[in-house]
Amino acid sequence: MHGSRQCVRPGCGALAEATLTYHYASRTAWLDDLEGDPDPSVYELCTQHADRTTVPVGWNREDRRVSDAPLPHPLPTAQELLDIPLAV
Ligand SMILES: [Zn+2]
Repeated sequence: MHGSRQCVRPGCGALAEATLTYHYASRTAWLDDLEGDPDPSVYELCTQHADRTTVPVGWNREDRRVSDAPLPHPLPTAQELLDIPLAV
């Protein structure tokens, strides 16, 4: 745990890991890593809610977060798929 800032979604309470910023004039919403001091004009969200964030039709959603999560596993090759034993 690093800090006590929580996701703003009602009933969530998870640790905030991202920020959501809207700019109405350019119809853009940005997701950024949580950093710096709390800003009242910025929504702070947990990773799950940040990932689920959608924007209105006609808006741009820009995810600028730099994930430090491990890279997703590459898709298995056909040979690897064949090597997977069938679970019985
Ligand atoms: Zn949340």
